[in-house]
Amino acid sequence: MVKALKPQLAAVGYAPSDITYLALSHYHYDHTANANEFAGATWLVRRAERDAMFAEPPPGTTLPSSYAALRNTKTLILENDEHDVFGDGTVVIKRAPGHTPGHQVLYLKLAKTGGVVLSGDLYHYPQMRALERVATFDFDQEQTRSSRADIEAFLKKTGATLWIQHDFTANAKLKKAPDYYE
Ligand SMILES: [Zn+2]
Repeated sequence: MVKALKPQLAAVGYAPSDITYLALSHYHYDHTANANEFAGATWLVRRAERDAMFAEPPPGTTLPSSYAALRNTKTLILENDEHDVFGDGTVVIKRAPGHTPGHQVLYLKLAKTGGVVLSGDLYHYPQMRALERVATFDFDQEQTRSSRADIEAFLKKTGATLWIQHDFTANAKLKKAPDYYE
């Protein structure tokens, strides 16, 4: 069953206005749909990504109206390879450019589930990981390869599991709100 983000959030008792931080993996239109709802949060973004999003014209793979409200939102430009969101190592945004100029992935250190990395579009499908294929429409394919090497090393070091967002089969099996991973 497909359920939109806002009803999922409501199901666990939160409104968009309760959210402190917003981070997008990247600017493609299939990843920014609800961004305007979170204009009251602090936006965590790479400078290269933000610059491209508000460039004239913006990249063709964007839907600027879906994130227009972020233009004047409180913004924290991430400069380092890693950004530890709450300072306790449980939620870490990792730099992984290539797919877009400021693409990033999210590491979650969950007490019971263990480590999970949300891929953004570092890979679109598990086959791309197995066959080492890079999407032809990536902003910088060499950068993608380098980011993948960094993230694969991180996965190996931490034992974290990679969740690939566009992997329909695997995604269908994941719990959806109001269920959650601890
Ligand atoms: Zn994408």
